[in-house]
Amino acid sequence: MPVHGASFPFLLLVLLSSYIHADAHSHDPNHHLNNRDGLSHWPDPETAYTLPPDPIPISTREHWMRRAVEALSDLNDGLPCPFAAFGCVIVNHSAVATGRGGIADVELGVELGSEVCIGANAIVKEGNPTLHGEVAAINNCTAILTHPAGKYKLTGPEALNALGDLSLYTTAEACPMCSSAILYGGFKEYIFSTSIPTLRAHDWPQIVIRSTEIFARSVGRLSAHRTRIVGDVLADETEELFKWQFRDAQAACPRGCVWEADGDGGHGGCVKGDGEAKGMHAHKDEL
Ligand SMILES: [Zn+2]
Repeated sequence: MPVHGASFPFLLLVLLSSYIHADAHSHDPNHHLNNRDGLSHWPDPETAYTLPPDPIPISTREHWMRRAVEALSDLNDGLPCPFAAFGCVIVNHSAVATGRGGIADVELGVELGSEVCIGANAIVKEGNPTLHGEVAAINNCTAILTHPAGKYKLTGPEALNALGDLSLYTTAEACPMCSSAILYGGFKEYIFSTSIPTLRAHDWPQIVIRSTEIFARSVGRLSAHRTRIVGDVLADETEELFKWQFRDAQAACPRGCVWEADGDGGHGGCVKGDGEAKGMHAHKDEL
C-alpha cells in the first residue's frame, strides 16, 4: 500500500503500535539485534519444512548410507572403525536433466543414482580443522566436477550450480560448520544417520545446534528452504561407529574391528580385526 494512499487513522495506528513495540523491548539486550536483522522472526525449526514426502525409497537411502560408512574404510587405509567415523558420499539422484547447466543429464536412467565423490573426517591426518567429513566431501566433489581432464569439466559457476542437483549422505548429523556448508552449497538433499542427540548421548563433543535449526535460521537465502533434510537413516547401524569412543568405552567394536588394549595400560581402542567373522564383536573385557 503506497504511503500517500494510507488513511490518517491507519498511519496513526502504525506509529502507535511501533512505539508500543519498541517500548516493550527497551530493556531487552537483544532488542537491536533482533530488530535489525529480522532474527526475531525465525521460523520454528519443527515446522519450517513443508516439502512433499520423500520420493526416494528408503532402500535407496540405506544403500547410499552404507556407502558413506564404506567411505571411512576407503579413505582410512582400509580401517572400518576410525576415530571420528564421519563418512560421506555425494550422490546424483537426478533422473531428468534440469537444463541448468549442471550434471543432472550425465547419468540418465541410473535408478539408484550415481556417486560423484566421497569424503571422510581428515582433520588430524591433514592438520586442518575444517576437514570434517562433509566439508572434505564437498572439497573432493568440487575438485572432481571442475577437473579439466575429468568426467564433468565444469567451470566454477557451473560446479556451484551442479551442487543443487546433488544429495549429500553423512554418517552423522552435520555440525553447524558443515550444516552451513551444505546450506551454502544449496544441495538438493542432505541425509544423515546418527543424530546430534545420539552423539551427545555417547559423550561426543558437539555444538548442540540441530541442522534443521541452522537451515531455519537462514534469512534471505532461498536455497535454505529447498534442501530436503532426511534424518536417522540406518541410525541403528551407524551408532556403533561412535559409541565405543567416549562414554561407552566398554561397547563392542564396529563390524570388522576388535578391541586392542593400549600397551601403556590406557584405554585402548578398536582396530581392524576379524571379530565379525567369528560372529561376535571383541570386547574390552574379553581381552
Ligand atoms: Zn562438521
